[in-house]
Amino acid sequence: MELKIKDIIIAFDGHSSCGKSTVAKAVAKQIGFTYIDSGAMYRVVTLLAMRKKLIEGKDINISTLKEVIESLTISFKYNKEGIQETYMNNENVEAEIRSIEVSNLVSYISELDFVREKLVFLQQAMGSNKRIVMDGRDIGTVVFPKAELKIFMTASPKVRAQRRYDEMIAKGDKVSFEEVLANVEKRDYIDQNREISPLKKAEDAVVLDNSYLSREEQLTWVMDILKEKFSL
Ligand code: C5P
Repeated sequence: MELKIKDIIIAFDGHSSCGKSTVAKAVAKQIGFTYIDSGAMYRVVTLLAMRKKLIEGKDINISTLKEVIESLTISFKYNKEGIQETYMNNENVEAEIRSIEVSNLVSYISELDFVREKLVFLQQAMGSNKRIVMDGRDIGTVVFPKAELKIFMTASPKVRAQRRYDEMIAKGDKVSFEEVLANVEKRDYIDQNREISPLKKAEDAVVLDNSYLSREEQLTWVMDILKEKFSL
């Protein structure tokens, strides 16, 4: 029997800055699902480590970080404009977690087994009632290996760096294109080569290369698959 769309989980995985969250959010809105940005959760742990001075480049104070994340809470709330924002222990940290400083360090934090264990546990709990769209690096492989629809997104590093650069400049950040491209390439390398849950396409994922697709075209692409595979 064909699965009803309300009974599914949609997993988006892929490289940094390839627009996963934009299309994942649009899909969630269109079908009335909850959207969860798992990358934001790794960014929160990174910000916490930075604030508590537990990370200096690759050097991380593991034992103290283990202790401080035990009581850490991460939540998402909608602001007045209907945009989802990330909260660390009830403090709105949405802007801070998107900074280049956090972006430069987040891959070192997301390599840690105890961090992944805690965040995967929280993410699985968020999906216990289905009706969820989650994006990240290991959603279709580790967090929800049985997700009913898995999409692996990618785009060329230059296209991705340009998108992130435009976003940061629009927000008033002072960064160079080269700096952003270097960050995108470094994160790709670390994410694909780490020991635990490296970024890789799940065997049953469909690939969406959006280098030259508009937002509308991407949404249509996903909605067509949903209509074909599930009953509304
Ligand atoms: O998606 P975003 O680029 O905000 O993610 C930030 C970082 O968090 C990634 O570069 C990756 O190191 C890590 N991450 C992860 N697993 C996820 C989501 C993000 O390791 N599911």
